[in-house]
Amino acid sequence: MSSKLLRSAEVLAPELAPYLRGCTQEMLVVPRCNQCGHYQFPPRSLCRVCGHDTFAWTQIAGRGSLYSWTTTHRVSAPEFRPITPYTVVVVSLDLPEELRMVGRLRQTGIVPDLHIGDAMTCSFETLTNGDVLAVWSPR
Ligand SMILES: [Zn+2]
Repeated sequence: MSSKLLRSAEVLAPELAPYLRGCTQEMLVVPRCNQCGHYQFPPRSLCRVCGHDTFAWTQIAGRGSLYSWTTTHRVSAPEFRPITPYTVVVVSLDLPEELRMVGRLRQTGIVPDLHIGDAMTCSFETLTNGDVLAVWSPR
């Protein structure tokens, strides 16, 4: 199934296209500096540790701990109404260095019982339009 989000990113935000392509293959990938090995997300043109400018997109395990979250109860966009309330989470990834990723909690339509430090795992959700999103759940 094709992804409208991926096709848009390839034109409007090509630096995110490898991440979105990974999602369509149900793989969580982030750029890793070819010089010092630093993981960084979102993608940047230069490594924030050593300043090097080439990266290898690297698959990561998709596990981490809950750093923060917020639940949205009211939306203006009609396409979000069926999943409201929904929760956006910030997850500290299980990597040798600190890296956080923002995503949506998989379970929607509820106010979740979450706690900072909860163990989280990534999975992938295919929307009716073919877009594939990385979503997070407590494990
Ligand atoms: Zn580096």
